[in-house]
Amino acid sequence: MRANLLIGCIADDFTGATDLANNLVRSGMRAVQTIGVPAGPLAVEAEAVVVALKSRTTPPAQAVQASLEALRWLQAQGARQIYFKYCSTFDSTAQGNIGPVTEALMDALGATFTIATPAFPDNQRTVFKGYLFVGDMLLSESGMRDHPLTPMTDANLVRVLQAQCRRKVGLIDYRTVAAGEPAIQKRIEALRAEGVAIAVVDALSNDDLLRLGPTLKDLPLVTAGSGVAIALPANFGIRASEAASRLPTAAGMRAVVSGSCSQATNRQVRAFLASGGHAIAIDPLRIAAGADVVADTLAWARPLLAKGPVLVYSTAEPGAVKAVQGALGVEQAGAMVERAIAAIAAGLVDLGVRQLVVAGGETSGATVQALGINQLQIGPQVDPGVPWCWGRDAGGRALHLALKSGNFGADDFFSKAFALLQ
Ligand code: ADP
Repeated sequence: MRANLLIGCIADDFTGATDLANNLVRSGMRAVQTIGVPAGPLAVEAEAVVVALKSRTTPPAQAVQASLEALRWLQAQGARQIYFKYCSTFDSTAQGNIGPVTEALMDALGATFTIATPAFPDNQRTVFKGYLFVGDMLLSESGMRDHPLTPMTDANLVRVLQAQCRRKVGLIDYRTVAAGEPAIQKRIEALRAEGVAIAVVDALSNDDLLRLGPTLKDLPLVTAGSGVAIALPANFGIRASEAASRLPTAAGMRAVVSGSCSQATNRQVRAFLASGGHAIAIDPLRIAAGADVVADTLAWARPLLAKGPVLVYSTAEPGAVKAVQGALGVEQAGAMVERAIAAIAAGLVDLGVRQLVVAGGETSGATVQALGINQLQIGPQVDPGVPWCWGRDAGGRALHLALKSGNFGADDFFSKAFALLQ
């Protein structure tokens, strides 16, 4: 048992887990992200661990089972508080999975009260009178209204969560939060007396989250987006420090692989090309036609790696992506490109790459899996939401990885990332 593990987190998706770990590190905690529930004990010392699951849109019973498995592992590592992390847009369906997972964790922990707030003011997610805002829009008027898997058509989180829960859901509103710790504590007592077991909490600013923080100190379970994480390390006497994000020194060759077609990534690829970097485009139609794109790409990269970072990308503009999807099918095209890029990434590591940037959420998942990496130490942030990470692949080789979800990062992200490691 590791007595120094303070917060054990269960995240319902991969990039969300990184986002949370990044916030914990920036608030002073040494943090590790694991990909799935590890088979053995933690490989490095950490004050916070985030177990990344893929439970956001699985059937509720499956999400509950995976979350309880993560809980048992975190408890075995000695975690003193459990944090269930979901998306800052409260992504869920009428069946769950936020409510069912919260209640299962409460049952397992014997927790009689917890909070729920996706508020992340740094990312323009605020909760006011129980209503979630995305920027200036109600959640139900934002793009989330049309999400393919978890369309959010009601911005009232008390109502949304109550529909998923047996326990009674209540609200701690912005006036109470603004009044500070004693007022919040009093409201929690009043809610408990009314039989409320889960309270949605308003938060309009980081100050609100910081006022909320001390009242969470003795809760066995906290449920939230990544925002609340900024307020928890202080409960353990930890303050923000550079030391929390320190990683082993980076060495080896550098590469970027990109399977993201998001606007930000398209700009980043253009910027890398404009700067004269060595780059090669992957054509999904060639992969589909049976060409050995992986071998061809690695043969191209081999003589160039010593000269600086290389970029391998399938990144394309929407028109080109649509054409490929029309020819191959959306899911098939996606899975095929992900497999190819992940295999190229693994081949680049065989060629000596030890500093790897991966662009794309799904692409990152596929790459980390292909490399057989299951624990990542979280390091310094390149751009908001994207830290450098450090881990060992299945062969025990130490790697620095930056896993960038599509729309994150400035145009010069790729060069900036490597500069930060030097
Ligand atoms: P993001 O984080 O930007 O959403 P992802 O990696 O999660 O990026 O998703 C991008 C998806 O698009 C992946 O499934 C990837 O394989 C697929 N893809 C990448 N390039 C192309 C392309 N040129 N044509 C069609 N699909 C592509």
